[in-house]
Amino acid sequence: MAFDQLGRKVVLGIAGNRTVTNIVTKHGMRLGAKRFIAGESVDQAAEMVRRVNQEGLVATLDHVGESVSTKEEAIHATNEAIGIFDIIDKYKLDSNVSVKLTQLGLGLDHSFALENMDRIVAAAKAHNNFVRIDIEDSPVTQITIDIFKNVLAKYGKEHVGLVLQSYLYRTEQDLIDLGKAGVNIRMVKGAYKEPKEVAFPKKKDVDDNFNKLVKLHLENGNYIAVASHDENIINETKRYVKENNISNDRFEFQMLYGVRNQLQRDLAKEGYKVRVYTPYGQHWYPYFSRRIAERPANGLFILKSMFKG
Ligand SMILES: Cc1cc2nc3c(=O)[nH]c(=O)nc-3n(C[C@H](O)[C@H](O)[C@H](O)COP(=O)(O)OP(=O)(O)OC[C@H]3O[C@@H](n4cnc5c(N)ncnc54)[C@H](O)[C@@H]3O)c2cc1C
Repeated sequence: MAFDQLGRKVVLGIAGNRTVTNIVTKHGMRLGAKRFIAGESVDQAAEMVRRVNQEGLVATLDHVGESVSTKEEAIHATNEAIGIFDIIDKYKLDSNVSVKLTQLGLGLDHSFALENMDRIVAAAKAHNNFVRIDIEDSPVTQITIDIFKNVLAKYGKEHVGLVLQSYLYRTEQDLIDLGKAGVNIRMVKGAYKEPKEVAFPKKKDVDDNFNKLVKLHLENGNYIAVASHDENIINETKRYVKENNISNDRFEFQMLYGVRNQLQRDLAKEGYKVRVYTPYGQHWYPYFSRRIAERPANGLFILKSMFKG
């Protein structure tokens, strides 16, 4: 097993431990997690988005959380996501919203999660805004696509988009199918621990597939969000759009809040649209542990802060 895969497995394994979760959630914000989480309240996150907007970047706000265990929690998460559109209007922010279906009760009841998603896309439309459905691990890929297609048919591609992962073998066909409906896709490499039966085990194959799929979606005349901090991916996109005279309004770059900040700003200065995925909320630990799994050096921030303070 390659070292990076082993690291991801270990970190994501530890992240599943309840005691570790409780300790880090209690002290983590104070100890450095705020580098990656924009705050525990929507007002704190709105202030961060306002600053990001001032620097010429746009945002997508994500009330973090996943895999709720009761319908009440799912309804609460749905209402929170709907409320973000009011905050965006109130503070005149340039931002849309991202959500995860497991947070809306996907693990409890598919039609209940669809109802909740429907309410959020209705709110996006009422506010003339947009919501993107994040993609989670492979057991829920198909149902996520099904729910996306349902709300897409009802509200249109201007108000809802989806994420696809280049590490999954199935993604090329999903992208071709969805591309026919002209949908707005965010391409990512994929953040979950997946078996080799469903996902490319080698980073090079994941990266090559990413570049191939971005080009495919653009070639088919569609809009794509290139969500990566990988300069090889970013440079290849820049090279390809230039060579093919694809205008800057056909795509955007996306990066996570707190990751490669200078690169985000440099791209915006070069005239590209750059969207910062801005997570906030109290249940930030699973999100945070995926960031550490991607780059274990991030965990050192927490450790260093512990010893400093
Ligand atoms: C806007 C956005 C939305 C996303 N949404 C989803 C989603 O819905 N579903 C999903 O499965 N995944 C999602 N992801 C995560 C994604 O799948 C990857 O796990 C993550 O982006 C790391 O891959 P990378 O493309 O940056 O490349 P990598 O090859 O992992 O990294 C390239 C370089 O970027 C830098 N880097 C990468 N990650 C970090 C980090 N955490 N901290 C510091 N530096 C880093 C490092 O310098 C690294 O060498 C999202 C990512 C982004 C940017």
